[in-house]
Amino acid sequence: VPVSRIRNFSIIAHIDHGKSTLADRLLQTTGTVSDRQMKEQFLDNMELERERGITIKLQAARMNYQGKDGEQYVLNLIDTPGHVDFSYEVSRSLVACEGALLVVDASQGVEAQTLANVYLALEHDLEIIPVLNKIDLPGAEPERVISEIEEIIGLDCSGAILASAKEGIGIDEILESIVHLVPPPQDTIDQPLRALIFDSYYDPYRGVIVYFRVMDGSVRTGEKVRLMVSKKEYEIDELGVLSPTQIQVEQLHAGEVGYIAAAIKTVEDARVGDTITLAAEPAEKPLPGYKEAKPMVFCGLFPTDADQYEDLREALNRLKLNDSALNYEPETSSAMGFGFRCGFLGLLHMEIVQERLEREYDLDLIITAPSVVYRVTNMDGEVLEIDNPSLLPPPQQREKIEEPYVRIEMITPETYVGTLMELCQTRRGEFKDMRYLTQGRTTLVYELPLAEVVTDFFDQLKSRSRGYASMEYHLIGYQENTLVRLDVLINGDPVDSLAMIVHRDKAYSVGRALVEKLRELIPRHQFKIPLQASIGSRVIASEHIPALRKDVLAKCYGGDISRKKKLLQKQAKGKKRMKSLGTVDVPQEAFMAVLRLE
Ligand code: GDP
Ligand code: MG
Repeated sequence: VPVSRIRNFSIIAHIDHGKSTLADRLLQTTGTVSDRQMKEQFLDNMELERERGITIKLQAARMNYQGKDGEQYVLNLIDTPGHVDFSYEVSRSLVACEGALLVVDASQGVEAQTLANVYLALEHDLEIIPVLNKIDLPGAEPERVISEIEEIIGLDCSGAILASAKEGIGIDEILESIVHLVPPPQDTIDQPLRALIFDSYYDPYRGVIVYFRVMDGSVRTGEKVRLMVSKKEYEIDELGVLSPTQIQVEQLHAGEVGYIAAAIKTVEDARVGDTITLAAEPAEKPLPGYKEAKPMVFCGLFPTDADQYEDLREALNRLKLNDSALNYEPETSSAMGFGFRCGFLGLLHMEIVQERLEREYDLDLIITAPSVVYRVTNMDGEVLEIDNPSLLPPPQQREKIEEPYVRIEMITPETYVGTLMELCQTRRGEFKDMRYLTQGRTTLVYELPLAEVVTDFFDQLKSRSRGYASMEYHLIGYQENTLVRLDVLINGDPVDSLAMIVHRDKAYSVGRALVEKLRELIPRHQFKIPLQASIGSRVIASEHIPALRKDVLAKCYGGDISRKKKLLQKQAKGKKRMKSLGTVDVPQEAFMAVLRLE
């Protein structure tokens, strides 16, 4: 196909507004997949999505579409991840497109996540086509939502399409709008090859499969390519398009979207944002905008059973093959023994990895509370990046300490504004902006330390707003603060994995709440266990867990065997997720106590 008849687009939507349903509908309407295939694929996806609670990406799909003008078009849908943790990947996917469908649920309205992605799309000059979805619902208010989009985003909605992905309404209009409104790619076939990697995954048989958009030039199967950032060269074994299953082709040129397999061993060698060029006639410069994914949140992972240390290393190794943003280093804790310090893009990324380690690799892990990366300047001017609170140098060695800040945008019904402002205030937030939108919906903007967000901010936002508020945040930089290290002592011994960095003004209340929580979470032992929180050598809060007086089984009066059995089973199960610190058994929950202080 000539470049003039290619259209590359993506779909931007808040979760549950209908992105997957619309994508499926487009594939079906263009005859890209049959109804039977659709059913199978749909079921697969649903199960995974339900399990993980996140939208599984389709990656990319090429559709052939005959326009009303009688011409044959190729429409490439490039999917984007639906979560802020992966916003860099979203931005690379968008750069591979010339347009985007902005899908908004007509019975709900604009949400924070929608906004974040629309801003990214506007930044990259994409043509945006507003689609009001779910107009079949009795509660749909397309007019209200249209004025919301116009007001918040400043987008002209005169051409907005009213649609129902579920009922198949407005689908033809959407396809025609893509053809007429989204500009074709630039015709740069004569230039040296430059292809943008927007996704990749590891296949155990073929090596890494790399998804890309050809920006300039063309590429053929069998050619030798160079990745301009990783500086590695590979011969292409397989070149193809996604329809959405992989179909091999001989050649792809500027404007097209496809994949290669080239015996690439790990996704680290073919990172999202890298540029593919030809080894024989390389482009002068890579495509702009490459960034190294930088971990923002760190935690310690320790096997409950020291024998599983090597298994844990092997599992992390294997996950890393498919996840270039995952970062880990061996960590030795005086309390916990050998483990790994791991870095993640954000909380969701962290949860996905933890869950896979436990489920797919059958590991029993103790996971320590998440920490952000602090920037510490020493007296001699040296700057350290500290991602583990227990490694914070003592106050007399520090000149200053800075912490990462984020700007957070919330959208909420007006009734919850008060409680959300209170939440931000208790999290050291600084009020920035508030705007009333339509019908009692409000945007609220705060700047606050990332450390206050990675605890349970999101859960608090959801529970305080009964699920109605949404949020989005991005890093804005570092700010100096008066921070101190809070240590926790169990039975007189400091537990390095429980150390945390807090603002001095909050240290007392946090220390008190923490020891109280630990008293609840750590089971009784045969002896009394003192619990203390301290700053330096000063104890700021103390508690104790009284000794166990009677045998647990003594609770079971008489000889009810089945009850006894149950109790013993329960104990055995509880044991699995305990770590012995000296003579005290500490359960997993205790290491997360700091996330549950409210
Ligand atoms: P995503 O999270 O944006 O991918 O949203 P999904 O496509 O998974 O849709 C979320 C829910 O909305 C599902 O239960 C869909 O069946 C439903 N849905 C999607 N489009 C429509 C629509 O046009 N009308 C109605 N009534 N429901 C829809
Ligand atoms: Mg989905």
